[in-house]
Amino acid sequence: MRFRVQNRSKGFLGETAMASVRLEQVGKHYGKTQVIHDVSLDIADQEFCVFVGPSGSGKSTLLRMIAGLEDISEGKVIIGDQLVNDMPPARREIAMVFQSYALYPHMSVYDNLAFALKLAGKPRAEIDQRVRRAAEILQITPLLNRRPKDMSGGQRQRVAIGRAIVRNPQVFLFDEPLSNLDAKLRVNMRKELSQLHRDLNATMIYVTHDQVEAMTLADRILVLRAGEVAQVGTPMTLYHRPENLFVAGFIGAPSMNFMPASLSPEGRVKSGAIELQLPLSGTPGSGQVTLGIRPEHAVLGDTSLPHLMGTVTLAENLGETAYVYLQVAEQELVVKDNEGRGFRRGDSVPIGIPAEQTHLFNADEQAIRAWS
Ligand code: ADP
Repeated sequence: MRFRVQNRSKGFLGETAMASVRLEQVGKHYGKTQVIHDVSLDIADQEFCVFVGPSGSGKSTLLRMIAGLEDISEGKVIIGDQLVNDMPPARREIAMVFQSYALYPHMSVYDNLAFALKLAGKPRAEIDQRVRRAAEILQITPLLNRRPKDMSGGQRQRVAIGRAIVRNPQVFLFDEPLSNLDAKLRVNMRKELSQLHRDLNATMIYVTHDQVEAMTLADRILVLRAGEVAQVGTPMTLYHRPENLFVAGFIGAPSMNFMPASLSPEGRVKSGAIELQLPLSGTPGSGQVTLGIRPEHAVLGDTSLPHLMGTVTLAENLGETAYVYLQVAEQELVVKDNEGRGFRRGDSVPIGIPAEQTHLFNADEQAIRAWS
């Protein structure tokens, strides 16, 4: 099932002015507590940008500042070419979709969709046209006379999205909109949101704590850590070139393995029983570092590579892949096995580490990325 948009070339409801969003050194404090620090970001017109980070990292606060639901303590928020710091939410031409749906329970779906337009004094015929086209896009036309309580979670979330669509906003803001849905429905809605983004040609900003959602939906991701930008980049840049240990550990599932290591000035990295020659250039520094390898890049049983010996503590079989947990000295590593080799607890297995797939971080947790 997909959303249907009939008039693609002109945007959803005829002529639409979509917009860029610019954050300039944006900060937020509550009393003396600083929760957003110096965030700068340019979101292009029609871009799908995801804010991701652990709970409490400031994602919602940042989104709510763009929406106008929170005051901006420092810096500037610019939508299109308008500085909106002091502009009330209703004038910002944004529409926000919340996790909680926030539907009016006593109103039909039709009236829920029409409400904001009625409030804005739009003519009845225009309201009817917009409501029916949003319903068509979201495939909820048969539900227009129902009340929210008589619908599933997925249907309610469609209505919530429909309420944003009818307003024909410059920018769509989503605050964890799929969190209340079960896993399968979430995957479906994720695909549909991608499709909706393409069809509406709209600028979308989307908050989630789920890195899979971020990776699959985003043109670009901003990773937040404790109110600060940890990294901004495309999903593939974050995956292949994490700039620091935090992003390396946050993006990817299961998470990247980290091992304490030492780096010589000549670029030799030693960690436990392995020694890797990394083609470092410039002056990457030396001393204590952290060596990172993703579970999908280490190779079980490959003794042609520099390898560590591990003892299997657990093998989780997912069907097409297995996550094999291994104890290596004091540490546990996880490695994916796509070959169904049926490792068992207690097996002693070499873990091959391909040097070119490793990541290296200095004592300040910043990536040493001197090789290509
Ligand atoms: P996230 O969306 O990433 O889970 P939030 O933006 O909700 O994070 O919160 C960021 C930080 O700001 C948290 O530490 C939270 O406790 C704090 N915070 C949010 N709202 C308030 C408030 N009204 N007063 C004080 N602190 C707040």
